[in-house]
Formats: sequence, C-alpha cells, structure tokens
Amino acid sequence: MSKRIAIVGAGVAGLAFATLAAKQGNQVDIFERRSQAGSDLGAGVTLWPNAIFVLTQMGLLKAIQKASGEPMTMTRYDLTTGVQGELSLRGLNQSAGFNTLTILRRDLMAILFAGADQAGVQIHFGEAINLDKLSELENQYDWVIGADGRMSSTLRKKISPVSQPVYQGFVNVIGISHSSPIRPLNSQSIQDYWGDGERFGIVPIDASACFWAAGWAEVEKQPNRMFTLSELGERFREWPSEVLTVLQQAEQSSLHTVYVHDLDPMTSWYRGKCMVIGDAAHAALPTSGQGACQALEDAWWLAKLMQEEATTDRLFARFQQQRLEKTVAIQMTGRHIAQAIFHTPANQRPAQGSVTEASLDAMAAFWMTGLV
Ligand SMILES: Cc1cc2nc3c(=O)[nH]c(=O)nc-3n(C[C@H](O)[C@H](O)[C@H](O)COP(=O)(O)OP(=O)(O)OC[C@H]3O[C@@H](n4cnc5c(N)ncnc54)[C@H](O)[C@@H]3O)c2cc1C
Repeated sequence: MSKRIAIVGAGVAGLAFATLAAKQGNQVDIFERRSQAGSDLGAGVTLWPNAIFVLTQMGLLKAIQKASGEPMTMTRYDLTTGVQGELSLRGLNQSAGFNTLTILRRDLMAILFAGADQAGVQIHFGEAINLDKLSELENQYDWVIGADGRMSSTLRKKISPVSQPVYQGFVNVIGISHSSPIRPLNSQSIQDYWGDGERFGIVPIDASACFWAAGWAEVEKQPNRMFTLSELGERFREWPSEVLTVLQQAEQSSLHTVYVHDLDPMTSWYRGKCMVIGDAAHAALPTSGQGACQALEDAWWLAKLMQEEATTDRLFARFQQQRLEKTVAIQMTGRHIAQAIFHTPANQRPAQGSVTEASLDAMAAFWMTGLV
C-alpha cells in the first residue's frame, strides 16, 4: 500500500531515498532548511563502486558519467618518510564490477535533484524542521525520515538525544581548482600527500578541473574561522609543486573551512514513526571516503526493504540490522586513518606500500557487501 513519507533534509541520503520511494508509488515530501538546492559538505565526491551500483539502480548512471571523471590510480606520497604507494582503481573496479567516478558536489546534487523532481517528489525549501514541526509531520505522515546530516539532526535529537557530533581534532579546507592550458592537471590519478599531522588530497575530474582537501591537526575549534588561500599557500609552501599549483588555481568562492566531526556509533536509529539515515545516523570522517556512498546505500536498502516488510517496526528494525555493522566499520576506519594522519608522528606511522591484488579484492568485496 502506498505511504505518505516526509523526509527532513535534501542532501544525498534524502534525495536518493525520496526518488526511490516515489518511484514505488509513494507520496514523498522533502523539507529542506536551505532556500535552494546545494551543499557545502565537500567540494566533490569520489563515488566508489558501491555508490555507482546504487546510482545505476536509480537510473542516473548516464547523467553521472557525463559529469564525472574516471581516474585510474590513487597514489599516496608520505612526504616525511618518502614512502609511496599506489591503489589501482582499474583493478578495484574490475573486482567490484562497477567503476569509480569523481564528481563535483554541485553536479552530483543537481543530478539528484533532477532525479527526485522527475520521480514526482515535492521539495519544500526554506523549511527548517525543529522538534515542534517534527510533531506536526508525525501527525500528517506515515513515516518521517531524518536525512538531516551530521551536525544538528532534529530527528537524532528525538531518537537518541545523547548522541552528539564528536570533534576529531582536525580541520579541512576544501576547494575546487581549474587549470590554465599551460599546466594541465593529472586527470588519471587521485593524489594523496601525507605530511606530519597534515594532508593534501587532489581529486581530478578531468584535465582542467579538480577538487581538493587540505587538512591538519587543530586541538581547538575556532568558531567561524575561514582559512584563506594565502594562509594555505604559506602552510604548504614547501610541499610538491602539484599542491602549490592547485592552490594558485583555486576558485575563491569554492573555499570552505570545516572543523571535522563524526558520530560515535548509535545503538538506535528509530523511534515510533521516525528514523534517521545517512550522516544523521552514522556520520563517518571524510578520511573514510565513504560518507556519501553510505548515504546512497541507506537509500537503496530502505527502499528495498519497504517492499518486503509490512509493519513500521519490522521495517525500521530490519533496516538498522542490515546497515549497522557496515556503517560502524566505516566510522571506525575513518577514525583509524585520521589518527594515523593527524595524530601520529610521521616516523611512527605503519609503513603502507602499494595495495596488493588480494587486499584490493578484499576492499572491493567489503564495499560491495550486501549489494550484489
Ligand atoms: C569536510 C568534508 C568533506 C567530505 N568529503 C567527502 C567526499 O569526498 N566523499 C564522500 O563520499 N563523502 C564526503 N564527506 C561526507 C559526505 O559529505 C556526507 O557523508 C554526505 O553528504 C551525507 O549525506 P546526508 O544526506 O546524510 O547529509 P547531508 O549531505 O549533510 O545533507 C543533510 C541535509 O539536511 C538539511 N538539514 C539539516 N538540518 C535540517 C533541518 N532541521 N530541517 C531541514 N533540513 C535540514 C541540510 O541543509 C542538508 O541539505 C565529507 C564530509 C566532510 C565534513
């Protein structure tokens, strides 16, 4: 039977779930606090094979491919120890059965919005849902799904008031750069530079555009602090020329500073008619590389289980059971990698060379768990 579903938040999880649920004939409304489509959580997204699986199921693969890059390797350089390692994305893709694509966040969001619109989802912008408004939604809808992100989810406040975002002691400055014709970007490789408590990652879209994230340990958060390009230039002045070039070519308006938080694993994702998905349920650090991919997996699983379970209690319980183990593993991986980069002296970090075929297969198998 068709359901009336309210979704709070038009991010990756909210839009993807809305589209899949509307395609099944349900009536879906999204309430989004922003006045228009958009997002500032990350300048771009690496869509690993598990995300491409879901986007294919949503019928969005062609649109995604058109706006994406397809790098073939990911290279990590440890600037202090000189160790270099490589991950073959071609090998990972073959093993997983789906490709890895890179896309600017604004392009991903535009495609997800168009998909939701086409599926008949109603999106209500400028609607910040607080606990009072949430009670009204509960009266009007069969289910209220909280896809309202990591920092201040209203649904999470209701379901698990003790769960608060945890600051993990590092800051990210993210941005987009465009190359001049003289210095084309390396469109074939994601470049990941690790220093002592510092990191600079460059993800190409094509030979003329990339997104990047600079990160470093910061014990104290400074509210409203926005780091500038000249401060970044100063901090990374002795880093490889690729880093300096990307900073010189950065789009000023794309710059964004984030003091990075995640969540401790939550034991309950639902209460009554309300449930959280995506970052609101299991935010992982960007060092996991899987935040948006897991938001997409949530959407796919919830839509799938809706067709199999007749009661709300069983549906929500089964969804949490299905998703908990994998998302907790990803939250922990994100923390483990952040600890190694930002909070371990470089000479004490475990050496990491190139990824072997066996570990590449294991990585692909883990990311595809439950999907194929
Ligand atoms: C610095 C940084 C870089 C990142 N880079 C990457 C990356 O490269 N790759 C990757 O896969 N992941 C990355 N992530 C993680 C990724 O951004 C998230 O995991 C992903 O966006 C989660 O999607 P979501 O829909 O759950 O939440 P969000 O994308 O945060 O969407 C939540 C939506 O809810 C809305 N909202 C919030 N509260 C309310 C309210 N009360 N009422 C109405 N609307 C509300 C917000 O405006 C927003 O539109 C990064 C995260 C950070 C912090």
